Amino acid sequence: MKAFENSEVWFVTGSQHLYGEETLKKVAEHSQEIATALNNAAAMPVNIVFKPTVKSPEEIYAVCAEANASSRCIGIITWMHTFSPAKMWIRGLNILQKPLLHFHTQFNRDIPWNEIDMDFMNLNQSAHGDREFGYIMSRMRLKRKVVVGHWQDNAVIEKINAWARAAAGWHDWQGAKFVRFGDNMRYVAVTDGDKVEAEMKFGFSVNTHGIGDLVQVINAVSDADTDALTKEYFETYNVSSSLKSDGKQYQSLRDAARIELGLQYFLQDGGYKGFSDTFEDLHGMIQLPGIGAQRMMAKGYGFAGEGDWKTSALVRAMKTMGAGLKGGNSFMEDYTYHFDPANSLVLGSHMLEICPSIASNKPSCEIHPLGIGGKADPVRLVFNSAAGPAINASVIDMGNRFRLLVNEVEAVEPIADLPKLPVARVLWKPYPNMNDGCAAWILAGGAHHTCYSQNLGSEHMEDFAEMAGIEYVRIGKNTELYQFKNELRWSEVYYKANNQ
Ligand code: MN
Repeated sequence: MKAFENSEVWFVTGSQHLYGEETLKKVAEHSQEIATALNNAAAMPVNIVFKPTVKSPEEIYAVCAEANASSRCIGIITWMHTFSPAKMWIRGLNILQKPLLHFHTQFNRDIPWNEIDMDFMNLNQSAHGDREFGYIMSRMRLKRKVVVGHWQDNAVIEKINAWARAAAGWHDWQGAKFVRFGDNMRYVAVTDGDKVEAEMKFGFSVNTHGIGDLVQVINAVSDADTDALTKEYFETYNVSSSLKSDGKQYQSLRDAARIELGLQYFLQDGGYKGFSDTFEDLHGMIQLPGIGAQRMMAKGYGFAGEGDWKTSALVRAMKTMGAGLKGGNSFMEDYTYHFDPANSLVLGSHMLEICPSIASNKPSCEIHPLGIGGKADPVRLVFNSAAGPAINASVIDMGNRFRLLVNEVEAVEPIADLPKLPVARVLWKPYPNMNDGCAAWILAGGAHHTCYSQNLGSEHMEDFAEMAGIEYVRIGKNTELYQFKNELRWSEVYYKANNQ
């Protein structure tokens, strides 16, 4: 089954009437064959739907309008098997609101050296037909992904797959609602930002509810529901002895279950795809949500602490993009450093809320004091996370634009037991190395809050940023600080010149 079984990407081939019926018949046959092969590729998470060849400005406009109106269509792939004069595309591209991937491929992989004649040359023109199409996209300054290579090459299919996942995340954001319980943590800069601009740019809305509205729902949760969820905790996690039914903090576990159910009902009833809360606004709450926030994330909801609506929305988008893939996505914070020159590491964590989708072991369900917030000790899931390649991603508001910043990292196995650390944790090494990776992040203004992903790479995020039309900055293996600073400086001018 496909991860996005209700979503479609339309495969649209461009041509023109010049070549006659025979050639156009072949164009349609070949296009259908390519679309079917892409659709059947094991990695393809969406339905690739073949569309009839477009040969005139009217047909091009119609398919773009149809794509805009279709709730199933999350993007279109275009390919010019023959030449398709690109002025024909202007009106259609002008109204197209869905992400576009320009697939620069060719039906035949090899040149048939002994058979090639002028009929073949008339039909197989993508090497120049796609250049004409590329020109008009560039001339119109349109964002798109260009994928080059033969359609049966797995590396090429992987690039389409990454884009399709990004398109699914983007589609999910359109009309999405996020709720913020309370406001921003007082005086914090990076978690704040322009929610009106975000709605215009990203398509999702963020609105506040006083924490009292949530408390009301929590207080109305039935004892029977609370019993059932408490039982689920015992079945799913290694629960600390003090939280067990004969333990002295059993009531705290039940309180935590009630909070989780209140969150769940509130989000379901309001049609929300994610939320944020803040320990500075917990009036009427018994505990800061710990296990509840963690488990809601594991169900696919976005979350970030301290009123950080941008990271909450990003966590949701990345969870959507990674659907069906091995590994998880979680709210994360660069917490503290290990500056051993022989083995420098970042310890990522949060005061409670790390998503168990990234757990490498059965989480233990524990209760410990929090030290801030002034509420009862919160219940939380504690676990380690596996070694392997990962990314940290952050959306920040630069005032005149949003910037999506990504750092490629390598997670490592825990090098010690951390017996007294009462929160879930991850250890990683940033690329290109600890000092330059962190320096680049700081220079780019990256937040301390991120979405940490085990199953997405920088290509997904780059495609996603293109769809959103925002700045994309990557810190990876080849990042070199001198060049990196120049990139930021030059981008500053670019975005000012484009009035973005
Ligand atoms: Mn935080």
